[in-house]
Amino acid sequence: MKAPSIYLSSILFSVFTLLAAPPAKAADKPNFIVIFADDLGYGDLSCFGHPTINTPNLDQMAAEGQKWTNFYVAACVCTPSRAGLLTGRLPIRNGMCSDKRRVLFPNSAGGLPPSEITIAKFLKQKGYQTAAIGKWHLGHLPQFLPTSHGFDSYYGIPYSNDMDRIAKKSNTQTAIDEDYKAYDLPLMRDTKIIENPVDQRTITKRYTEEAVKVIRQAQQKGDSAKPYFIYLAHNLPHVPLFRSEKFKDSSIAGIYGDVIAEIDWSVGQVMEAVQEANEKSPNSQTYVIFTSDNGPWLSYKTHGGSAGLLRDGKGSTWEGGMREPTAMWAWPKQVNSGVVQEMGSTLDLLPTFAGLIGEKVPGDRTYDGYDLSPVLLGTGPSPRKEMFYYHGAQLFAVRSGQYKAHFKTKTSYVKGQKMVEHNPPLLYHLGHDPSEKHDIAKDNADIIEKIKQLAADHKAGIKPVENQLIKKIEG
Ligand code: MG
Repeated sequence: MKAPSIYLSSILFSVFTLLAAPPAKAADKPNFIVIFADDLGYGDLSCFGHPTINTPNLDQMAAEGQKWTNFYVAACVCTPSRAGLLTGRLPIRNGMCSDKRRVLFPNSAGGLPPSEITIAKFLKQKGYQTAAIGKWHLGHLPQFLPTSHGFDSYYGIPYSNDMDRIAKKSNTQTAIDEDYKAYDLPLMRDTKIIENPVDQRTITKRYTEEAVKVIRQAQQKGDSAKPYFIYLAHNLPHVPLFRSEKFKDSSIAGIYGDVIAEIDWSVGQVMEAVQEANEKSPNSQTYVIFTSDNGPWLSYKTHGGSAGLLRDGKGSTWEGGMREPTAMWAWPKQVNSGVVQEMGSTLDLLPTFAGLIGEKVPGDRTYDGYDLSPVLLGTGPSPRKEMFYYHGAQLFAVRSGQYKAHFKTKTSYVKGQKMVEHNPPLLYHLGHDPSEKHDIAKDNADIIEKIKQLAADHKAGIKPVENQLIKKIEG
């Protein structure tokens, strides 16, 4: 009889196939590294046009990968911006923005609600190992720390590097004096304080070593390692500025240039470690994304950065507050390299990572992000066609295509500045006028109507939630 022998050979074939099949490996899913600077301006990298700051590693990353020129953060200050990146949701949806207290402070009792699904929590459920390194700023009480939000480990400063100030000294003078003891700032390992005050002079270096360690540990495990997600959120160049000995007086852009040079060095170390790891684990694929949490803190003059030709900076909903210099790079299989002028946002990272591993975002909540993987892979355009600009808990502006309407404006992160309402709203064409200098509202009533409708529809989908930023620790 023929049938049994065919049957037998098919069994034997299956057995051989099984024996020959490689074990489940890290290569099945790519690694992800997000490098997030603090208060870095759109114009602060040499590949984004800065004439005296030198960033060869970031320039290489942008040249080999993608340089995004219309990439936005979820908010123009630290806490809500970070909440947006990690959850893929506008901070208005989870209480992480406020008009009264715009960020979390060391006396804050709130934080990112446990019901939120961070990128780490999402990827961990898909078999990833996860590490948070650097600034957190989403709640420093135990229930809000990275280890309670899907990260296997945490090493970093739980909020901004100018908080817990104990000396009566300006942030600028502290930097000049290299006086890190002017702040009673903690460095944490998981949930424990391991250094207080943290020596900020070496913090960028130490964060980098920690990230490289995670990459190397995965490398040592070879193909049996779990894929990883590393969130490397530098505390700098937020003031007060600190850099390690090697970078002192290294830049003609002064202390700010030194700090950016060290962050650029850090990016180079990460890229190098990723490339070395791939030699050991040739099936691995790693995506690295670099951007910043909000625009430059302009009131700090030469200790703050530059938004280049974009208007204003940190704390404002003008482009300089929310559009960030962004590069996306991958190894060994590169992304579709080139300059991307389409819109993208940190809100899109969670859906994009989901897309790259063939998964869907959870269906039980509203997401404000889009899957940008078609742009990365060169298979399609960016699905993002609009951007909502929040100042605290208020919607100040909306971009639709190249048009941006400002319903309200408030200039810069300076005390005493008044909010101004605009009716009709100010209207700019960001393609023709990226600096938002020439209001064209008068001749474009139809476009304003369309954007007003977009704003109304968006607002109708926002449900009130408990605010996390106004709660203070008692006593
Ligand atoms: Mg910031």
